Amino acid sequence: CGIVGYIGPDQAADFLIAGLRRLEYRGYDSAGIVTAERGSLTIAKSAGRVDDLAALLKRTSVRGSLGVGHTRWATHGPATDENAHPHVGGNGVLALVHNGVIENFRPIKERLISKGYEFRSATDSEVVAHLIADELAMLPTSFDDAADPYAPLIAAVQAALAQLRGTYGLAIVFRDWPDVIVAARLGSPLVIGVGDHEKYIASDGSPLAGHTDQIVYLADHEMAVVSADAIRVIHRDQGDVEHDVKLLNIESSDVE
Ligand code: GLU
Repeated sequence: CGIVGYIGPDQAADFLIAGLRRLEYRGYDSAGIVTAERGSLTIAKSAGRVDDLAALLKRTSVRGSLGVGHTRWATHGPATDENAHPHVGGNGVLALVHNGVIENFRPIKERLISKGYEFRSATDSEVVAHLIADELAMLPTSFDDAADPYAPLIAAVQAALAQLRGTYGLAIVFRDWPDVIVAARLGSPLVIGVGDHEKYIASDGSPLAGHTDQIVYLADHEMAVVSADAIRVIHRDQGDVEHDVKLLNIESSDVE
């Protein structure tokens, strides 16, 4: 139901928890975060309140200067720890959070199970994680393009998104691209907050207040590759596109 993300010099978990608290008004039944540090992804998630997640974080170290978080409003699968987001793709090459509903998740899930992917949840969202992992694994080696280190990641995400029917706001972290977060949108709002050597992601402007008022609104069929210093927006049909930085106005309306 709500998404947050952070990449920059600070510990991501601090912003993620604070941001999830500001999204609590949207309603939710579970919460979770993932951070990336030195080639490993660390996940903490649970059914229940953001307070429960914060208590969990006191017992487990979730370090890393980039990460994404989620409050879940269950549509597919009950509110359990396993069904809470983030969900891992493949053997841990990526983890993602998802808002929305993937209508055609069943046939995709069956195909991926027959290819050996192991599902840990009853959600529609987990198929997106394994599908992107599968597309990454199937890329021809010609995608190892020194001029654009993100070419494989972009190609795999786009190939996966092209197979989905439904709605999504997605925020994804990759084990092998530890300096970016990928965001993608169709039907569920997502904004990117622009800070000084840091970027934020959120499903509406409320988590960004006090951090930045510079906002990039992602449009449907756009994905973004977000690093601490740059935002690259790629449209499904048009490739790389320009993006405007707008002023966030929390008072009047925080979503477009
Ligand atoms: N459909 C997904 C699920 O049930 C995402 C729900 C949401 O937007 O929070 O896990």
